[in-house]
Amino acid sequence: MKILLKGGRIIDPANHLDGLLDLMIEDGKIAAIGPNLDSTDAVVEDVTGKIVAPGFVEMHAHMRDFEEKERDTFYTASCSAICGGFTSVGIMPNSTPVVDTPEMIYEVKKRAAESAVTRIYPFAAVTVGRKGEKIVDMKALADAGAVAFSDDGNSFKEATMMREILKQTKLVNRVVDLHCEDKQYTGKGVVNAGKLAEELGLPGISSVSEDIEMARNLIIQEEIQGHMHIAHLGSQRSVELVRFFRQRGVPFTCEVIPHQFSRTEEIVKEKGTRAKVKPPFRGKEDMEGIQLGLRDHLVDVIASDHCPYTDEEISGGLDATNLFGIAGFETTLPLALDMVRKGVVDLNYVIACLTINPARILRLENRGTLSIGADADITVFDPDQEWVVTRECLHSKGSNTPYIGDTMRGKVVLSLIGGEVVCRDWKILKQVEKPE
Ligand SMILES: [Zn+2]
Repeated sequence: MKILLKGGRIIDPANHLDGLLDLMIEDGKIAAIGPNLDSTDAVVEDVTGKIVAPGFVEMHAHMRDFEEKERDTFYTASCSAICGGFTSVGIMPNSTPVVDTPEMIYEVKKRAAESAVTRIYPFAAVTVGRKGEKIVDMKALADAGAVAFSDDGNSFKEATMMREILKQTKLVNRVVDLHCEDKQYTGKGVVNAGKLAEELGLPGISSVSEDIEMARNLIIQEEIQGHMHIAHLGSQRSVELVRFFRQRGVPFTCEVIPHQFSRTEEIVKEKGTRAKVKPPFRGKEDMEGIQLGLRDHLVDVIASDHCPYTDEEISGGLDATNLFGIAGFETTLPLALDMVRKGVVDLNYVIACLTINPARILRLENRGTLSIGADADITVFDPDQEWVVTRECLHSKGSNTPYIGDTMRGKVVLSLIGGEVVCRDWKILKQVEKPE
C-alpha cells in the first residue's frame, strides 16, 4: 500500500532537510521524498500548510499501568502520547512493580504490544527496587531490551556507586539517565524556595539540591567517560554547568521539560497541586536560563515527563502528599513551539530535540528520522492551530496539568507508525485491546 503526503513542509534534522516537499510511503517504509511526487495508486493525504516531521521520540514518561491503572494504562497514556506527536515512547521504570528484572522488561513489552497505540521502549531501574543499594544486572536487562537505565525520582547517595554505574554503562552501551537531587537537601520542600515558599508558608526546594548532585555526577563522568544523560534541568545554574563541562570536553547529553522553560513559579499560586512538579517552577531568572540552554543548543532533548495522577490524589493542598508531576504529552509540542515564536530557539532545533536526538541517546535505529527505507513513523502538525486545554480533551487519566483553561497553539493532526495511520485529528484509529 502507498500513501503520499502532499504539500507539507518536511523538517527532518537527521538528514538536514527542510523544504516544501512530498513524501511517499510504501509498504510501511519511507520510499521517496521530493518535489511534486505523483502516483496513480497511492492514497493522497493533503498536508498543505502543515509540518511533516519524523514521529517524535519521548525519553521521559511515566505510563503506569500494572498496579496503578487508576492513574493511566498503556492504552490511555499512549493515546495521550500519540496526540502529542510521540510515536515512540521510552518509559521510566518507577512503576509498581519496579522494572528491574528481565522478566519485567518482557512483561512491559508484552502488555504494551497488546494495548499501546505507540511503540514502547522500557527503561530499567539502575538499582534493585530503586533503593540505591544494589546495582541491577545491567547486562541481562540490556539484553532483554532495556533501552536505558534510570532510578528517576531518586539519585545515588554514594559517589562510588555513581562511578561504578558509569563504568557499567560502557559495558552495556546504554545511558544512565540521571534525576539529580540531593533528597536531604530537598527535605520536605514542595515549591521553589524563596519568595514563593515564604508567601505560601510552605517548605521550599532550592536549586542547590539538584545542582550539587549534577555537578558531582559530571565531575565523576569527566573521569569515567561513561554514557550519561541528565534529566530535566531545573535552574539557570544547571545550564551553566552544562556549558562548563561541555567546554571541558566531558561527554553527556541533557534534557529539559516544558514546565521549566515556559512558566515561572507564579503559576503555582494560581494552580496549586496541578503545578507541583520536580524540578519546581522557579523564578524568571531560572526560566530564562533554561531558555538560554535551548537557544545555545546546549540542551539535547525536550521531553514531556508525563506523570499522571488521579483527581483524588491532587485534590489536597500542596503539602498534602509527596507526589510531584504533570500529565503533559499533549501540551509539550505547543509549549515548545512557543519558544520558537518568542525567538528563543529555531524550529529545526526543537524538532531535533523531539526526534533524532532522543532516538540516538536511546540507541533506537530507524527512529526519529525520515531516511529513505526507514519505518514510516511520521508526525504531521499544524503549528498555528489553537486549542484550549480542558479535562475532557486530554487522553490521559491524569488531569494534573496546570495548563487547563490555557489556549495552546500547535496541534498534531496526523500520526503514522510503520506507515499505518494511528491517529487523525486526535481520533485514535489503531485497534488495540482496551483495558478498563
Ligand atoms: Zn525525575
